[in-house]
Amino acid sequence: MTPRLRLQPEAIGVGMTSQRVRDRLIERLRGNGIADERVLNAIRTVPRHLFVDEALATRAYEDTALPIGHGQTISQPWVVAKMTETLLAGLPSAAAPVRVLEIGTGSGYQAAILAALGLEVHTVERIGELLRVARKRFRALGLNVRSKHDDGRIGWSGNGPFDGILVTAAAPALVEALTDQLAPGGVLVAPVGGGGGQVLVRLRKGADGAIERTELAPVVFVPLLSGLID
Ligand code: SAH
Repeated sequence: MTPRLRLQPEAIGVGMTSQRVRDRLIERLRGNGIADERVLNAIRTVPRHLFVDEALATRAYEDTALPIGHGQTISQPWVVAKMTETLLAGLPSAAAPVRVLEIGTGSGYQAAILAALGLEVHTVERIGELLRVARKRFRALGLNVRSKHDDGRIGWSGNGPFDGILVTAAAPALVEALTDQLAPGGVLVAPVGGGGGQVLVRLRKGADGAIERTELAPVVFVPLLSGLID
């Protein structure tokens, strides 16, 4: 796999953002059960330190969520890896472009990982300012990501159905509009739950439309909220 990335000097990193530090994160993810080399390679290549504030850049390759402003966080690398691995395993291996939808662009990091894997990425974010910054990052890295400022609980119906859907904010239950926009044979990965704890859920839609649901791991995500913010 060749990540579709433009790597300027600042994307290559030095010191706490160097390749050696990134390789340590990859080994940690491997030790924690991430086995898909395509995913590990994308995480090795996409410069996570450019998706957080400069002041936090030295912590970008720790396996931890970090604040990105507006009360939101960039997900922990293991969670990004697990969601991406689950998505890839469930996607069709068709030659045609594989279309995926992410709800909750945030920093743009998860979308960048998906784009680096050669997927056709659509992402929706409700906080305008986060989306503007994420779009700058996509542009700087030469990543082709389609994005929209909207309430992702309605999905992106004009561009669906999607072969894969990732939801990166937690709702008490799976959002029906999103499962509706999942193509037959597609896979959706989403954190589900509220105050009592969240679990990462994989949902597969069979060719006949039948849905199979599997719980994967306990997780912690910010909530999926309604309404738009500039
Ligand atoms: N995928 C992100 C993680 C972001 S945290 C990353 O890689 O950085 C979750 C994001 O979901 C936040 O930015 C939050 O504003 C957004 N969000 C919450 N509810 C939403 C909704 N209804 N529609 C779209 N985005 C939403």
